[in-house]
Amino acid sequence: MAACLIALGSNLGDRTATLDAAIAALSATAGVQVVRCSAWQLTLPVGGRRAQPEFFNGAALIETSRGAADFHALLQQIEVQLGRQRHERWGDRTLDLDLLLYGDAVIDSPALTVPHPRMSFRHFVLEPAVQIAAPMVHPEIGWTLERLLEHLDGGADCVALVAPSATARRELAAALRERFGLTEGAPSIADERLWPTSSTAWLTVPDGQMSSEHPKLTILLDSPTASEAGRGPTLQIPPTKGDNADREIFAAIAAVWPRLGSRGDQRLQ
Ligand code: ADP
Ligand code: MG
Repeated sequence: MAACLIALGSNLGDRTATLDAAIAALSATAGVQVVRCSAWQLTLPVGGRRAQPEFFNGAALIETSRGAADFHALLQQIEVQLGRQRHERWGDRTLDLDLLLYGDAVIDSPALTVPHPRMSFRHFVLEPAVQIAAPMVHPEIGWTLERLLEHLDGGADCVALVAPSATARRELAAALRERFGLTEGAPSIADERLWPTSSTAWLTVPDGQMSSEHPKLTILLDSPTASEAGRGPTLQIPPTKGDNADREIFAAIAAVWPRLGSRGDQRLQ
C-alpha cells in the first residue's frame, strides 16, 4: 500500500458537487481508500488568462494498492467521467486531479512527474494539503508540507536563478525585471554550495523581507544534473522546454507573490 496525496480543482459547473463526486468515485474504486479529505476552498486562478472563473481547490490523502502509473490513469479516467472536455493547460476545467505525492517515489516519465513539479510553491495546493497531511515530506526537497507552506510566508523575498549559461541568466533576469519589477543583487543569505556564485543570478522582490536563509523560489534553468535537495521550493526548467519556459516561470512567480502577479497579468494576454 502506498500513501498518496492528490490535489483537486474545479472552476466550471457545480464545482463543489464535482469535487464531491470525484471523492465518491475514488472511494468506490477497488484498491483505493480515501483516508482524509480537506475542505474545499475558493481560490483565484493562477497562471491562466484573466477573467477565468474562480476555482474550488482541495486535497485528499489516499491509501492505494495500485501502482503510480495505474493510479494516475484512474485519476484521468475520473476527470473524463465527470465531464472534463478541454485539455488546454491552465484553462477552465470541470475537474483537475493531480497526483502530488506517491509515497516517497520520485517519477519522471513522459506522462507523469511525481512529486508534482509545481506543488512546492502554490498556496492553493499546500493549504488544503497541510490541513490533512502536514507531516508528509516532499521527497526531493526534504521538507514537510507544513514547512513548505510556512516558507511561502516566511521565506526570503527573492528568486535564485541557477543556470550554467551566463547569457540565459542575463536574459531571464532582464525579462523578470521588465515584467515584475524585480531588481538584481545578491543577498547575504546565499549558501555557496546550494547557489554557486558562478552560476546563480539573484533577483529581489520590491519591498520584500530577507529574514530567511532560503529564497522563496529557486529556478533551475537547463541544469539537468542539479538536484533540488536543500534548496527549498524549486522550479526545474529542462533544456527542452523552449518557448513554454517563460510562461512557466512567470506563472510560478505570480503564484509565490500574488501581488506581483496582477502586475504581470496585464501583459500575459
Ligand atoms: P495542469 O494540471 O498542469 O493544469 P493538465 O491537467 O491538463 O494540466 O495535465 C497536463 C498533463 O500533465 C497530463 O497529460 C498528465 O499526463 C501530465 N502530468 C504529469 N505529471 C502529472 C501529475 N503528477 N499529476 C497529474 N498530471 C500529470
Ligand atoms: Mg492536471
